[in-house]
Formats: sequence, C-alpha cells, structure tokens
Amino acid sequence: MKLKVIQTDITTINVDAIVNAANTSLLGGSGVDGAIHRKGGPQILEECKRVIAKQGKCKVGEAVITTAGNLPAHYVIHTVGPVWNQGGKEKQKLLANCYINAMQLALNNGVKTIAFPNISTGIYRFPKEIAAEIAINAIQQFVTQETIKEVYFVCFDIENFELYTNQLVK
Ligand code: ADP
Repeated sequence: MKLKVIQTDITTINVDAIVNAANTSLLGGSGVDGAIHRKGGPQILEECKRVIAKQGKCKVGEAVITTAGNLPAHYVIHTVGPVWNQGGKEKQKLLANCYINAMQLALNNGVKTIAFPNISTGIYRFPKEIAAEIAINAIQQFVTQETIKEVYFVCFDIENFELYTNQLVK
C-alpha cells in the first residue's frame, strides 16, 4: 500500500473512492462536502437520504458509502469528523475512527485506490498538525492488507500539504 500526498481539489481525482468530510445529517454542507455534492450532482444526496431513512443519522467517527454521481470516482465514503471545540483525547479517537471506518468500508467494497481530505481541519477546527498525525497513524494500521493499493491524502491548503509531506518522510 502506497501513501501519497497531493495538493488539489478532491472532486477532480480519478480513484475508486473519495472520502467526504460530512456532517451527521449527510445532507451536504460547506467546504469539501459542498464541493462533492455540487460537482457530483443530485444522485449522491438521494442516496444519502436513503441511507438516513434506513439507519438514521451518521454518528461522529462512523462512515457510509454511496455512489459518486458525476464525479470521476466510483464511490463517495461519507464520514463525520469531530468538532475540535476544547479538544481532548476523545476527539482524537473519533478522528482516528473516521479514517479507520472509511478504510474498512473501502475494503468491504473492493476499493483499490482511495483519497482522503484533511477531515475536521476546516470548519471543525481541529489543529492541523495533530489531525495529520492521527490520519497517518490510522492509515498505517492497514499496511498488511493487500486490497487497497494507494491512499491519497488530498490537501487543499499548502499548510496541510507541508505537514503531511514532512510527517510522511519522518
Ligand atoms: P470539516 O467540517 O470536517 O472541518 P471542511 O470541509 O470545512 O470540513 O474542511 C476539511 C478540509 O477539506 C479542510 O482542510 C479544507 O481546506 C479542505 N477542503 C475544502 N474543500 C476541498 C476540496 N474541494 N477538495 C479537497 N479538500 C477540500
């Protein structure tokens, strides 16, 4: 499994699954969530609504999978990151769960290439350095599996791009 860091818009990349930093309603929002629904089209929202009708809201740290609509990816894996607020260990555990549950869902669906945004580091205000460390550690727990070949950390801003690049060469 290769880990790669790139700086781009996650809606443009051609992988089996892109991960969305959603909220518990799964009805769309701002930031990366808004971009994915806008560019992916109404099919994604329709499927999110079906998921919610079946299982209720998506809890923080959990993940669900839908079509990627008009995006180049095949699937969108929606996960709900924690809001940092006062921070703490519990928040860090929940952020790790986002990456772990998204990877598990990807494995269950035969995904070979997957791209993650920097979950919770936008409106949810997680400190970027801590979030990057958690993300990398969580993904590294999957090194022994052989289904997923490439994991992309898709950074939107230069600060995250540099943090991930530096932490991965450590
Ligand atoms: P959260 O609510 O989980 O903090 P945000 O969407 O506000 O979610 O931000 C999460 C991260 O996604 C931030 O680092 C933000 O810069 C980044 N981001 C925003 N739009 C895009 C996009 N189109 N592609 C990739 N990353 C994006």
